[in-house]
Amino acid sequence: MGQNYDIGIIGSGPAGYTAAFHAAVKGLSVVMFEKDKVGGVCLNKGCIPTKAILHSAEIYEELKSCESIGICAENVTFDFSKIMEHKNQIVEKLRKNLELSLKNAKVNVVKAEAKIISKNRIEAADEIYECGEIIVASGAAPRSFKGIEADGKFILTSDDVLNLEKLPKSILIVGSGAIGVEWARIFAAFGVEVTVVELAEKLLPLADVEVSKRVERIFKTKKIKFFTGVGVEKIDDKKVILTNGEILQPECVLVAIGRKACEVSKIDGVTFIGDVCGAIQLAHFASKQAIEHIDKIPFDKNLVPSVIYGNPEIAWVGKREQDLAEGTYKKASLLISALGKSHCDNSTDGFIKILSQNDKIVGAHIVSKEASALIQEILIAIQNNISVSRLKEICFAHPTYSEGIYECLFKL
Ligand SMILES: Cc1cc2nc3c(=O)[nH]c(=O)nc-3n(C[C@H](O)[C@H](O)[C@H](O)COP(=O)(O)OP(=O)(O)OC[C@H]3O[C@@H](n4cnc5c(N)ncnc54)[C@H](O)[C@@H]3O)c2cc1C
Repeated sequence: MGQNYDIGIIGSGPAGYTAAFHAAVKGLSVVMFEKDKVGGVCLNKGCIPTKAILHSAEIYEELKSCESIGICAENVTFDFSKIMEHKNQIVEKLRKNLELSLKNAKVNVVKAEAKIISKNRIEAADEIYECGEIIVASGAAPRSFKGIEADGKFILTSDDVLNLEKLPKSILIVGSGAIGVEWARIFAAFGVEVTVVELAEKLLPLADVEVSKRVERIFKTKKIKFFTGVGVEKIDDKKVILTNGEILQPECVLVAIGRKACEVSKIDGVTFIGDVCGAIQLAHFASKQAIEHIDKIPFDKNLVPSVIYGNPEIAWVGKREQDLAEGTYKKASLLISALGKSHCDNSTDGFIKILSQNDKIVGAHIVSKEASALIQEILIAIQNNISVSRLKEICFAHPTYSEGIYECLFKL
């Protein structure tokens, strides 16, 4: 006789645990299976650990250049093993909190690999679970390509770099998406010689053209070398041969060319959410999909914010300039250095760009400290169809970065 549950969830990342919490609140009985660590990639190998290390990198960078703002920090150094230990502590603390919250919500977490037997039946650890409904939230894994398969020593994935015991002297990062750019910033901040290779014609290929250009500038300032429109031809005895004929000999290579959805056979009546769907592979998209499914609260899949962390942050939502036909839109731009707050924070690099059509914002692209928060303000306006004219009625606090949005409104 198997155990019976209203919902069986495979995977405990943001998609899985959000579905579990929301189903439990509705009074449904929930069993959730996890073959690795509770919290999924986001908590254990993705968003959280990278941002923890990035924070250390930023503090180190800031302290090295704080003399101009009157702070004397001589001989600033760092201890990489302590940075990694701190990262591990954060991850463990958050995982414990999550496990406790799941327990309090009466979600039965089964730590085992789960297999779907049929539309309503899951097998895990030699037990059969009868479920009124099955949700698959099994996520994705680092993508590799032929000839540059990760070996955990010379060729690394984003999982491997989180377990580095010491920093390499040099690294080649293949791919300049969010993961590639964030790691380039981390390594460069710690003095590693970084080269980024991007097959597309521009860095951060999914971004607005001007954002990509700004990333080039940021890379130059941070002495990160890069090649665009160039791929890796092959790797031969630790020599990396690029498609432009260049030969590089980094101490190691990080492959950051995206993530491949876990292979799971599609079964009618079984719901798939999160990275396993392979569409937008972001934690907030995964958790929104969970809420959409459980609570029937729909959301606009075209209005999912993207954020690249680091100094300055990069964030965007909606249409990019290259998506819009010439003459059909208005554009307002403002340099972050125009804002008093940016000077107070010693963080003047970046810009805010807002695109509008028929008095409505259709896209925003921001490179700035606090860009992750700013983009949310604009998203609320777009989502609610608030016109530019109405937005001008809002009183923005001073001194803030939000004032930059306000300034832009008068140029639209
Ligand atoms: C380095 C890095 C940085 C990132 N940074 C960000 C960021 O800043 N912001 C952002 O939004 N996104 C970020 N992401 C992406 C984000 O981590 C994912 O979008 C998110 O984790 C997807 O959630 P999910 O629940 O769909 O899957 P996952 O988090 O991948 O969880 C799936 C879980 O299912 C488990 N599982 C799989 N198969 C089975 C099975 N058969 N039985 C039991 N368990 C199973 C896996 O072990 C895993 O724990 C980052 C990713 C990486 C790699």
